[in-house]
Amino acid sequence: MILPGATLGMLGGGQLGRMFTTAAQTLGYNVVVLDPDIHSPAGIIADQHICAKYTDESALRQLAELCDAITTEFENIPATTLAFLEQQTVVHPSSKALAATQNRINEKQFIASLGIPVAPFIAIRKTADIDTAKTTIQFPAILKVATFGYDGKGQVVCHTADDVRKAFESLGQVECVLEQRINLEREVSTVLARSQSGEISNFPVAENVHVNGILHSTTVPSRLPEAQVETAIQMADKIADGLAYVGVMAVEFFLSKEGDILVNEIAPRPHNSGHFTVDACETSQFEQQVRMLCGLPSGNCELVSPVVMINILGDVWGKSKPHWDSLLTRPENKLHLYGKKEARIGRKMGHFNVLAATVEQATNIAHQSFDDLKAD
Ligand code: ATP
Ligand code: MG
Repeated sequence: MILPGATLGMLGGGQLGRMFTTAAQTLGYNVVVLDPDIHSPAGIIADQHICAKYTDESALRQLAELCDAITTEFENIPATTLAFLEQQTVVHPSSKALAATQNRINEKQFIASLGIPVAPFIAIRKTADIDTAKTTIQFPAILKVATFGYDGKGQVVCHTADDVRKAFESLGQVECVLEQRINLEREVSTVLARSQSGEISNFPVAENVHVNGILHSTTVPSRLPEAQVETAIQMADKIADGLAYVGVMAVEFFLSKEGDILVNEIAPRPHNSGHFTVDACETSQFEQQVRMLCGLPSGNCELVSPVVMINILGDVWGKSKPHWDSLLTRPENKLHLYGKKEARIGRKMGHFNVLAATVEQATNIAHQSFDDLKAD
C-alpha cells in the first residue's frame, strides 16, 4: 500500500484532476499535477505543478522521480506517455487500458467482442466507406470523429449518405465512426472502482440528461427497473475485467425505446456523471481513485441521500456573474466551482449537487436553483 505522506502524480489539470487533488490532499498525500496550462484548475491547487506538454520526456522523468504512483484524468493523454512512465513508477490505469478507449472504433469493437451490445456502427476512413455504410446503417445516424471528441464535439447528425459525405469533409476527412442514432428512452451511467486484485465496487447507477451533447443533469437513484440496473452493472464490470482495469472508470449507456441496453462509451477515469458521489455517497469517486491508485481497500459506495447534480456551463454567465447568492441561500445546494477564469459557452465551470429527502424534491429545487442562477 502507498500510504499518506507519499506523493501522487496526476496527468491532466482539469476539474477531474482538481477533485482528485482535493481528495488525495484530504487523505494526507502530496499531489504533483502535470498540465501544459499554467492556470489549470488542478495545477493551481496542487503541491506542485509541472507546466509542460504530455510528451515532454524530461518533464515526465521529473514527474516519475517525484511520484510514488501516477494516474490520469483525461483519456487523450498519449498512451505512449503512460507507457514511458510505467517503466519508472506505478501507473494506473495502464497505458494498454487507456489505449483501448482512445479510439471510438477500437473501443466499440472491444466492447462488442465481449458480447455487449453497442449502437450499430461502421468505420469511415475514406469516402468509399460511405457507400458500404448506406447498406448497413439506418438513418438518421451520427458521424463522430474517432479520436479526441468530447462533450459532443466532432459529431454531426446525418439523414442521408450525402449528409455523411458533407460531414466527413467538414470534419477534415479524419478517421470517423458512423453510428446509428438510437431512439433514446433514457441515458444512464455507472462508475466503478477495480482494484489491483480485481475486486470491483460499483456506485449506484445514475440517470443522465444531455443538452446539445453535453451532460446537463444526473439523478440518483435512477428510474431504471432493478433488473436493468443489474444488467448495466454486469456489463460495466465485464468491461473492467476485460481491460484488466485498475482504478476508477465509468460506462455510459443508452436505453432504447425498444427496451435495449447498449453501451455508448467508456471513460477511463472518474466521470462528470459521478460528481454526485462527492456529496451523496459514503465515499466519493475521487477518494476511490486515490484508494485504487494506492492499493488501499475500496471505500463504501453506498448512497446516503437522493441527489440531483446540475452542471454549470459558461452559458449562465451574462453581463454580470451568475446569482451565486440565490443558489447558496438554499441549504440543499452544494456548490463546486473549478477555478476557471474565463467563462465560455459550453465550458464546464462547476456543478452543484442538490440533496433532499426524495428525488422529486431534489429535482424541483435543482430546476428552480438553476433558473435563478442565470445572470442578467
Ligand atoms: P462525453 O465524452 O462528454 O460523454 P462525447 O463527445 O464522447 O461526450 P457521446 O457520449 O458520444 O459524446 O455523445 C454525447 C451525447 O449525444 C450522448 O450522451 C447522447 O445524448 C447523444 N448521442 C450520441 N450518440 C448517440 C446515438 N448513437 N444515438 C442517440 N443519441 C446519441
Ligand atoms: Mg459520452
